[in-house]
Amino acid sequence: MSSFEEMFLEGVPYQCDACGGRMLYKGGGSYECMECGETALDDFGKVKEFLDQNGGTQPMTVIAENTGVSIAVLNQLLKDGRLQIPPGCKVYLRCEKCGCVIRSGRYCTKCELDMLREIKQLMVEEKRQRAKEEIKGTVVRRTGAKMRFADKDHL
Ligand SMILES: [Zn+2]
Ligand SMILES: [Zn+2]
Repeated sequence: MSSFEEMFLEGVPYQCDACGGRMLYKGGGSYECMECGETALDDFGKVKEFLDQNGGTQPMTVIAENTGVSIAVLNQLLKDGRLQIPPGCKVYLRCEKCGCVIRSGRYCTKCELDMLREIKQLMVEEKRQRAKEEIKGTVVRRTGAKMRFADKDHL
């Protein structure tokens, strides 16, 4: 049986329906596309919107029918008559870099790729810098070894 968290995550809009862009969590169960501004709701947002529009005392079956949210998720969201995400539930994971909604980890795929590229760039620059310093200094004394090193880099 899947947990509330898993069921809830199923309904979280990670990608924009209109353009496939990344969704940014705006609070209150609503999300906005970072590319085109399209908005979407997760299960929490859908139930909240429905209750805001129709009054807070709707039978669970009516809410489920109108929002498409499963009874199991509703049960958790409406526990004790309150609409809330259970405490300790990591349903709103956000990318630490750009703030968009992610399923796991600390960064979204795009930021992860960006960072990888940056790290690679840094490594290349560091290598270049080290090579420069070596040419200025040690290379004079240990020409043989350095030559072998340089050759290996070119292969
Ligand atoms: Zn979009
Ligand atoms: Zn990101």
